[in-house]
Amino acid sequence: MKILIINSGSSSLKYQVINYEAREVLCVGLCERIGIDDPSMTHKLSDGKTFKGNMDFKTHRDAVFAMVEKLTSEEYGVIKELDEISAVGHRVLHGGEEFTAPALVTDEVKQAIRKCFAWGPLHNPANLTGIEVCEEIMPGIPQVAIFDTAFHQTMPAEAFIYALPYRYYEELGIRRYGFHGTSHMYVSQQAVELLGGEAEGTRIITCHLGNGSSFAAVKDGKCVDTSMGLTPLAGIAMGTRCGDIDPAIVPYIMKAENLTPDEIDHIMNKESGVRGVSGVSSDFRDLAATAAEGNERSKLALDMFVYQGRKIIASYAAALGGVDAIVFTAGIGENDTDTRARMLENLEFMGVEVDRSKNDGLRAKVADISKDGSKVRVFVIPTNEELSIAIQTVELLGLDK
Ligand code: AMP
Repeated sequence: MKILIINSGSSSLKYQVINYEAREVLCVGLCERIGIDDPSMTHKLSDGKTFKGNMDFKTHRDAVFAMVEKLTSEEYGVIKELDEISAVGHRVLHGGEEFTAPALVTDEVKQAIRKCFAWGPLHNPANLTGIEVCEEIMPGIPQVAIFDTAFHQTMPAEAFIYALPYRYYEELGIRRYGFHGTSHMYVSQQAVELLGGEAEGTRIITCHLGNGSSFAAVKDGKCVDTSMGLTPLAGIAMGTRCGDIDPAIVPYIMKAENLTPDEIDHIMNKESGVRGVSGVSSDFRDLAATAAEGNERSKLALDMFVYQGRKIIASYAAALGGVDAIVFTAGIGENDTDTRARMLENLEFMGVEVDRSKNDGLRAKVADISKDGSKVRVFVIPTNEELSIAIQTVELLGLDK
């Protein structure tokens, strides 16, 4: 059974075809710079054979057509006809309070995705376009929407409400939603397996540390708190996003520099985070290299990231009433051995003990890096959002029965 996974961003479209039974990725593709200058496409087969070239994408619709052309082409194809695709799973950024689980796309579901445009202005319209173009060119093939926010919908009100006048929640839907839900769900489920397979009674903290970073507190397999908020700007400082700051800073800088809402939004999303502090880069490899050469601000940016993450982990241990496992995933969590080990320093009082000989040098594979006998297990678990989307799609449609 072949499942197509589509992840449309504001100016990109990523896709994979997965041979479900074998859990085998048949091809991965990326259409970039859609609607801006120099659009291009990369399409890579499992044997490494790759198409890479400049394209003429003006819209996401053009990109979907280009994807279909490659998927069915003689040279780069993985199918002969589109009806070999059993279902399409679409990643959708924001599902608001409407979606607590994957949804088979219907007119009502599309309307609900439209309602969430305000909270995901760059992503949700692109996500919906991807869905609508697929409906048009693959009639009869089920389309499933998988929401980044859905896993976090189990949070209790005390964790998701902001201390603003309650009407902003009632009238504008302003609350914590959380993101990276598919990743937090996938790695927490894997951690449950490593802990013995029974979700009931487990307390897990998942740390998705990548270009965007977020944490989740997962109790009995369900999310009870997460660090991102109404938007993915909240929580720990990230590559270029500021994360949590004193909210009074926003009007203060706007007045001081006479900025519009869009301008301050750009600064907080694109010019802040570890790049803003270091003035060097948003990439942790660059920060580590320059810090090692003596760059004080790179070192400060790394120290700040580690310190903020440690505080979130400790606060989630309190939210969970203890912790059985801490999981690291995504680009930094899987690969930056120093950052993840340092983030757990000072947490020995909670029973967290990392074995540096297991941690150092371990990249992008499942491992337990805690000391033998450590009260809290520390796992590195590579995330696989595409596989999780495929599994959720197949389960929703009952295709595995
Ligand atoms: P992601 O968004 O999950 O793809 O993560 C991307 C980020 O992971 C990059 O910007 C880097 O900061 C970080 N990263 C990837 N590989 C490494 C590595 N080997 N060492 C340190 N950081 C890494």
